[in-house]
Parts: sequence; C-alpha cells; structure tokens
Amino acid sequence: MKIICIGRNYVAHAKELGNEVPTEPVIFLKPSTAVLPLPGPFVIPSFSSDLHYECEIVLRISKKVCCIDLEAAITAYDAMTVGIDFTARDVQQRLKDKGLPWEKAKAFDQSAVVGEWRPADQYKNKKDIHFCLYKNKELVQQGHTAAMINSFEVIIAHVSNYFTLEPGDLIFTGTPAGVGPVEPGDQLEGFLEDDSLFDILIN
Ligand code: ZN
Repeated sequence: MKIICIGRNYVAHAKELGNEVPTEPVIFLKPSTAVLPLPGPFVIPSFSSDLHYECEIVLRISKKVCCIDLEAAITAYDAMTVGIDFTARDVQQRLKDKGLPWEKAKAFDQSAVVGEWRPADQYKNKKDIHFCLYKNKELVQQGHTAAMINSFEVIIAHVSNYFTLEPGDLIFTGTPAGVGPVEPGDQLEGFLEDDSLFDILIN
C-alpha cells in the first residue's frame, strides 16, 4: 500500500504559505508506515518544534489502474474519509530552502491520520462536499471540494501517469487554508459533512 499526497490544491492554502499556485498537481508520497493507528494518540516527533495539521479528504483506490483517463478515474476509488497530513513545518521550510525533497517533513511515522471510511457513492456531487477540522472544539479548517484546483478524477488520472495505483492505495487530496500548529494536550476532530470520522489526542 502507498499513500500519494497532493500539495497546493486549494488557492487560499497555497497563498497562506507563500507558494505559487501550481499549473499541474504537486505530488509527494508517504510510506504505509506513516499511517497512525487509531485512536492514537499522535506523538509530536522530537525533530520538530512546529508541527502542523493539514486536514484533507482522503480517497481509497479500488482498482489496479495505470495511465487512465478522467472517465476511468471516476470509478477508480470506492471510499472516502477525512484525514490529516501532519507536517513538520520547520523541517519542510529548511528542505524547501535548499530545494530538497520533503519526505523528512511529511512522510515520518504516524504522519497520516486516516478517518473512518464512507462509501464514495454516498456523496452524489463530488464537487459539493464539505469537510472541516476542529481543534479543542474550535473550528480551525473548513474545506469545500468546489474550491479544489484539481478535482478527484483529475488527480487520479494525473497520478496514474506516474504510479500504477492498486487497491488500498490512498490519495490525500490537499488541504484548504487554516493550517496551524499542535501542541501536547490538543484534541483534533475531523468531519466529512456532518460525520465525525476521527478524534485524536496530541501527546
Ligand atoms: Zn497536505
């Protein structure tokens, strides 16, 4: 199983980090060992002093596909949830400044929170899905799929040109604006529409 993540898929988030809005999907990977066993807790790694949450919709691939078109991409996933792409922002900034790969900042153990799955066809209009993250019961991130630069099928078709996708692979589809730091004692709860799909503590 592999985890493919899309960076800068919401204009407002790209701008809040001072990044250009990309002309094609920005892709990075996390290994299967990045998945946080639920219910957690998430332990802040010792190498970071600026650990950020990024709440994102996650898709689960259901077929082995390679180099597919948009129409085939629509049926290549069967489940959705919300998750967190935990990011060591200080480490990422150091790597970005040197033009180095981001994996140390993004692909470390437990950096991927994956909520409870829902069938993808439960959401009829994929361009009208709301999701959000609460930190300590306060709303900190709110996303709407209409604001994505690249839709789910564009992402899947694009990714499949580079990586054969297999059943069980996960795709993190990018975070909206509002990313921010966590500290020990914080609680994070993620919602897809009205469903609470994860609720974790930070240690
Ligand atoms: Zn992300």
